[in-house]
Amino acid sequence: MSAAVKLEDVRVPLGEDFPEIRASVRRICANFQGAYWRDLEAREAYPAEFVKALTEAGYLAALIPEEYGGAGLPLRAAAVILEEIHASGCNAGACHAQMYIMGTLLRHGSAEQKARYLPQIARGELRLQAFGVTEPTTGTDTTKLKTRAVREGDHYVIHGQKVWTSRALHSDLMLLLARTTPLDQVKKKTEGLSVFLLDIGACRGKGLEIRPLKAMVNHNATEVFFDGARVPAENLIGEEGRGFRYILDGINAERILVSSEAIGDARWFTKTAVAYAKQRIVFDRPIGQNQGIQFPIARAHAETEAADLLLRKAAALFEAGLPCGDDTNMAKMLAADASWHAGEACMQTHGGFGYAREYDVERKWRETRLFQIAPISTNLVLAYIGEHILGMPRSY
Ligand SMILES: Cc1cc2nc3c(=O)[nH]c(=O)nc-3n(C[C@H](O)[C@H](O)[C@H](O)COP(=O)(O)OP(=O)(O)OC[C@H]3O[C@@H](n4cnc5c(N)ncnc54)[C@H](O)[C@@H]3O)c2cc1C
Repeated sequence: MSAAVKLEDVRVPLGEDFPEIRASVRRICANFQGAYWRDLEAREAYPAEFVKALTEAGYLAALIPEEYGGAGLPLRAAAVILEEIHASGCNAGACHAQMYIMGTLLRHGSAEQKARYLPQIARGELRLQAFGVTEPTTGTDTTKLKTRAVREGDHYVIHGQKVWTSRALHSDLMLLLARTTPLDQVKKKTEGLSVFLLDIGACRGKGLEIRPLKAMVNHNATEVFFDGARVPAENLIGEEGRGFRYILDGINAERILVSSEAIGDARWFTKTAVAYAKQRIVFDRPIGQNQGIQFPIARAHAETEAADLLLRKAAALFEAGLPCGDDTNMAKMLAADASWHAGEACMQTHGGFGYAREYDVERKWRETRLFQIAPISTNLVLAYIGEHILGMPRSY
């Protein structure tokens, strides 16, 4: 990343950038068709074979610098990988965080921490894909989170609870945000929060309990309970009390990557809807000949193209080291809306068959609904635009 680039010198790639990566990801995904995902969902199982294939191809280590054994690719390349996975009808939710959670360690970890963990994460021997931020009682109001980490000698002792911690049962490590200084003892509410790299295996059964959380999609969600789990002080990332800032630093990358999945979903829905609209004959003509069927698909396609363009801009700004929060947030919302509208059009185009599991439309429709909520909800993006971009009073 170079901070010297001027805004007018930033270039945004159009068309099918990273074509070799796209072709290779499509080849991998061709081995994981709809039946694979339907079977997993019926068993509430983890897509271990799919994750293994992506790991072996090096894609989950795309963003880890070469000196630590990763591919050292730009953020846009990682975005392309995730877009293609979703455009192929697959879902990267089981492993996408392995790509970006390590960014906090990379940017703010000590040289010793990076040398110890990053090469193993790059090889896929260590899974760092659990991210413990959201809590049941505080929701989006992150700085009020209640999980406490109290220093006792050379350890921190954790008490509290997280919810919606995806993949915690399929991860060796968790990036945990906890309060180290009580809220009433800090000048700013964003201070006094710290980030830890928690060894899940070492803590389970010793003050750490993880319970699966049944959900609308097979996202391996969990609830996490801390009752005296002990984390070595050497696993604190960066400085104590500055954790909120560290998490914010990683948020743009996460949002750009997750938005690319929404773009991929939108493309799958559009392709699937168009194919069905052309071949399904009702009243002696293809249903796609009716404007009521054709226009929602056409509108969703236009929305997808617009969202994709803004998302590419956000990624290019990120790569250039320029402020990218505004474009990232707007692209996140537009990509989520485009995929939802494309999903709705695809469902409606399929009529009753949209409800048939074997078509995969209802699965993708349920999956893509998540982008309206996580990792940031549409309302909170609108609040950001209103306040930070347009300068209106803070709405919350
Ligand atoms: C499948 C799934 C996986 C997830 N994975 C993870 C994970 O791995 N790690 C993790 O930490 N979290 C995870 N999350 C949590 C996710 O990030 C949160 O659900 C999301 O940020 C919204 O927070 P909340 O559910 O607490 O909603 P709340 O904060 O309770 O908000 C509820 C609703 O009210 C709206 N709202 C709240 N305040 C305002 C306001 N001031 N103005 C307007 N509207 C407002 C919100 O937009 C939302 O629609 C996951 C969630 C799901 C569903």
